[in-house]
Amino acid sequence: MKTLKSFVAGKWTDGVGKSITLLNPTTEEPIAETAAGGNIDFATALAHARQTGGVALREMTFAQRGEICKALSKLIQSHRDELIGLAIQNGGNTRGDAKFDIDGASGTLFAYGEVGVSLGENKLIVDGESTQLTRSVRFFGQHIFTPREGVAVHINAFNFPAWNFCEKMACALTAGAPVIEKPATATTLVAHRIVELMVESKILPEGALTLIVGSTGDLLDRLNSQDSLAFTGSSDTAAMLRANKNLIAQNVRINLETDSLNVAMLGADVEPGSEAWNMFVADVARDMTQKTGQKCTAIRRVMVSSDQLDRVKEDLVERLSIIKVGDPSREEVTMGPLATAQQLKDVRDGIARLAGESTAIFGGGGTIDPIGGTKGKGFFVSPVLFQTRDAKSAQAVHAHEVFGPVATLIPYAGAADAIAQVRKGGGGLVASVYSDDRQFLGEVALGIAPWNGRLLLGSSKISGHAVGPGTVLPQLIHGGPGRAGGGEELGAARGLNFYLQRTAIAGDKPILEALFKKS
Ligand code: NAP
Repeated sequence: MKTLKSFVAGKWTDGVGKSITLLNPTTEEPIAETAAGGNIDFATALAHARQTGGVALREMTFAQRGEICKALSKLIQSHRDELIGLAIQNGGNTRGDAKFDIDGASGTLFAYGEVGVSLGENKLIVDGESTQLTRSVRFFGQHIFTPREGVAVHINAFNFPAWNFCEKMACALTAGAPVIEKPATATTLVAHRIVELMVESKILPEGALTLIVGSTGDLLDRLNSQDSLAFTGSSDTAAMLRANKNLIAQNVRINLETDSLNVAMLGADVEPGSEAWNMFVADVARDMTQKTGQKCTAIRRVMVSSDQLDRVKEDLVERLSIIKVGDPSREEVTMGPLATAQQLKDVRDGIARLAGESTAIFGGGGTIDPIGGTKGKGFFVSPVLFQTRDAKSAQAVHAHEVFGPVATLIPYAGAADAIAQVRKGGGGLVASVYSDDRQFLGEVALGIAPWNGRLLLGSSKISGHAVGPGTVLPQLIHGGPGRAGGGEELGAARGLNFYLQRTAIAGDKPILEALFKKS
């Protein structure tokens, strides 16, 4: 059985302490082990990353770092099948789910490679035009961005071990920051293998990549004001990290990506069977079941007007009925198990909580007989579609994220009611609205934009041309207000800002022009 090690200060390092076993969630068989951690000297790890990796990266231009991201993207692509196999084994992913993660990782690295190249052979970014500051025609101001001189610590969630790691890394590396990656322990196998490949390839300069398997020990207590922390995971862990005394005292930059009760809303104008209708039904069914619903962007709240309810239920139940739950390595299986026993417990608890105010229309009871499964083994659950019994008084559906293949239908009456219901979720990553009525789309978009990081406006004309709301694209920002963590990642060059310092420079116009020419 493989023993997973950390990669610190240029060396593979065994952990100490309690042994942790990684399981195959389909069979519950052990597939790898690691130690909980505790022996990493984070003072040395940080010094190596800052002084060796950071200096080497900042000596390069944006274009040179972009080329590194492209090379890393190619490296992942060239080991795609191996990584897909590990994701099936350790994550319970179907092949399609695994591709979503692995291709998302290589695609995002490639996209940031292009961003870096487009920023040219420069070591700074000139931000906007210079501005005359007084009546003098010589005294001007100019904003610039330069790489901060710290490390980028990334703590990632269990559900996207490849994408979550690489999307954060792509932004940080392009900006010039060495990365310290800490994947979720239960599904570390994929991220660990990617780091092995990156280390063997020697694409990165020494010190640019550190991997922590297991505990972060006193790492966060050692960060300083040039460092940053980007976290993806649950609100509870985020709240704990936010309260870390050293991070507060040092004003360490923090970006948090947490839970979200994402909405899909069907406009009352949309006719059953129309293109916009079919797009909505396909997006909801896919988001409920892709990665067994373990996607931060998955649709949890499905809002339809009362007169559409019966037909929507019929169509969604038809789609969910053909989902084949079982061993994700089998071709006919379309939904694998949840990733861990803890996830299964949390999802079952969440289903019971939602059942207090909603009725299950599909799933939610009885036993499950997974295709190719071993009796009594595996963290399987069937998709569950609920409908609120009283939309006005329902609370859990707007407050509790069930991180599995579970969604709830909520009837609404008109745009104002729909907007009010979306707001009850307290801030989300993404909402999708399906309609060909431009007035409705405009009113809803304006009403819910402050509460969401991203909106998808689905309509007949883009049906068949768009990716679903659950797909995070490197060109658009990812993150959201309130419950979603209040963070922002990606969004092409915007994603670099977190790792750069913006400085306003006032001075003699010709000097500013000579120093900070736009190329
Ligand atoms: P989690 O339990 O909060 O764990 C997330 C990460 O934090 C893991 O790497 C975990 O490491 C680490 N961690 C836990 N306690 C820590 C501590 N005291 N100090 C430092 N690191 C610590 O979340 P999860 O169960 O992996 O992920 C599921 C949640 O993530 C869901 O709520 C989902 O909505 C959210 N999520 C959000 C996004 C987004 O982009 N907004 C994306 C994906 C998932 P160990 O594994 O070693 O405990």
